[in-house]
Order: sequence, then structure tokens, then C-alpha cells
Amino acid sequence: MEKLWTENLRDIEPYVPGEQSSDKDIIKLNANENPYPPSPESLEVMKKFDIAELRKYPNANSTPLKAALADYYNVDIKNVFVGNGSDDVIAIAFQALFNSELPIVYPDLTYSFYPVWCRLFNIPFKTYPVNHDFRINPDDYREKNGGVVIPNPNAPTSIGEGLDFVRKIMDYNRDSVVIIDEAYVDFGGISSIPLISEYENLLVTGTFSKSRSLAGLRIGFAIGSERLVSVLEAVKNSYNSYTVDSLSIEIGRASVLDDEYFKETCRKIINTRQHVTEELRALGFVLPDSSANFLFVTHDKLSMKEMFEYLKEKKVFIRYFDVPRIDNYVRITIGTDDEMDVLLKEIRGYIDYVKA
Ligand SMILES: *Cc1c(COP(=O)(O)O)cnc(C)c1O
Repeated sequence: MEKLWTENLRDIEPYVPGEQSSDKDIIKLNANENPYPPSPESLEVMKKFDIAELRKYPNANSTPLKAALADYYNVDIKNVFVGNGSDDVIAIAFQALFNSELPIVYPDLTYSFYPVWCRLFNIPFKTYPVNHDFRINPDDYREKNGGVVIPNPNAPTSIGEGLDFVRKIMDYNRDSVVIIDEAYVDFGGISSIPLISEYENLLVTGTFSKSRSLAGLRIGFAIGSERLVSVLEAVKNSYNSYTVDSLSIEIGRASVLDDEYFKETCRKIINTRQHVTEELRALGFVLPDSSANFLFVTHDKLSMKEMFEYLKEKKVFIRYFDVPRIDNYVRITIGTDDEMDVLLKEIRGYIDYVKA
């Protein structure tokens, strides 16, 4: 018989991230990680870091990192919040800013962590289907709600929207907090950060995991009005004062200061993305123009699930979602040119294998 105390255990279905592997031979294009190493300036900071510093708690306000971000985005330090990856930042934002009886709203095809947080924090939610071409229809977001969260560019669709789109969302939602999740914005998207001075209810989140090649270090941030940021701080300080560790504060700061390296790696990924998009289209694949570091790919005559499994055998990992509407799509992270050449070679191999 089940013990009585087991009735008090939380029953929750967690988010499932892309598979990790320690096999060095694998070409890993399944978690939207950056194929290039972090800034050499970050490496210098790490080498020079005095391990004795770790005796002490980190700077509780992460000031060196926040100051670098404030400078970079041309905002006041009071407009900057940092956390242990943007997953941490967004989870805190959900708890801090979404406390209405009304459901929060977001697109049906989007980051699959949102419903997990809603269930964890008991936040009611509702989704609006994206259009047949996977674009988000801003007019859906006119309905009264308890908050809005939209990634721009969206995942896994890779489609980015402009400021007109965000302005529409903001104008329809004067009574709700709107979170724009900009995890992928540095790969050619358009940032809404300049709008925070106009809209006190807008929070923009970002991460060092994708464009800054620091997924393993866990740094995320949010930029918004002083009012919103002060509530995020209060919630964060109600359960963990020290989310960002001393080493991350310094490495993250060095990464922000090395803008040249950052721009160069983003540019390389954008160029590779363009090339691979053309190659895939020439092979009959259908995919939207991506504003992110991944492609969202389908084919009228091929099974994407089978292709995903075939590529896995060949040690090329991509992502397949067994989700209605997109169950014949795969998401492919942009790697180096060499990695993408292997991907394309194996995809051609798959096409020949299916024909044979
Ligand atoms: C990757 C990702 C994040 C979170 O990344 P962290 O590694 O936690 O900073 C947030 N939102 C979207 C849409 C993402 O793809």
C-alpha cells in the first residue's frame, strides 16, 4: 500500500531538454548551443580568477555584470536584473509578475518551458494558435489576460517579428505585463529593449547561453522598468540571494565587454545559416527564413522523424518534436561550416537511402 506521506508529494511533469552526450564524435545540433568557444577575454578572466575569492559569497547584487549590461544596452543599472540562466530569470518573472486570476497567454507553438512553469506556480494559461505559416497573429492578444509571454524570434519556428508587432502587443495590453523572451535576438532579430522607456509593463529577457557561448555557465538577464525589476529582485531575494556566482559575474562581464568577438561569432552563424538554408531548399526542404541560430525544417515527401533517427545513427543529433501540427518538422541548430557540411552530406545520404 502507498504510504500516506506520498499524497503530499508534488506530481509534476518537468521540461525535457535536448539530449546531452559526452561522446566527442557527436555533431550536436539539438540544443541551440553555440559551436564557437566563449570570448577569449572571458578565458583570460577565468585564468586570472583568484580561487580564494570563492570563500566569500558573491556580490549579492551582481553589480559588475549588471553595470556592463546597463552600459551595453544604454539603460540604467536599475533597469537590469540578472539570474542563473534566463530560465531562472523567466521563472522568477512568472512568479513575480503573473498573479492574476485571468490566464496568461502565449502562442501554441513556442518554448515548452512556459506551461511547465505555469503548472509549477499554479498560473492559469491559454494559448493562441500561430497562423498556418507559423506567424504569431498580434490581434489574438487583444483579449483581456493575466500576462503575455512571447519569444521573439520564436522557437522552434525561428521566425522573428519587428517592433511594429511588439508595439501592437503592447498597445493591446496596457493592463498586463508583457514578457518578450529574446533568447535568439542576437542572430538577426530586432530587440524590444529600446521600448522599455515607453512601456513600463514590458520586460525583455535575454541569455548568455546562445549568442555568447556560455550555456554551461548559466547567465540570463532581464531589462525592464525600475518598477518591474524591483519586484523581480524582491521575489529572487525571497528564495535565493545568490543566484549568480562570483566567477559567472566576472566571466559574463568580460563577455559583454568583448563586443568585437561577439559580433564576429554571430555574423559567422548568420552566414552559415544562409548557406545551409539555400542548400536545404535546393534539396526540396521547406523552411521559414530564420532569425535565430537554428532552422525549422520540413519536407513534403520525407519523414522528418525517420530522418532524425537516421541522423542520430550517423552521430548527428538534431531535435524532433512529437507534437501535433509540427510532427513532420525538425529543428536544426547552426553549427560550424564543417559540422553543417557533415549534416548536409548525411541528409543527402538519407535521401539516397529512402530512394533505394
Ligand atoms: C534557450 C532558451 C531560454 C533559456 O536559456 P538559458 O540557458 O536558461 O538562459 C529561454 N527561452 C528560450 C525561448 C530559449 O530557447
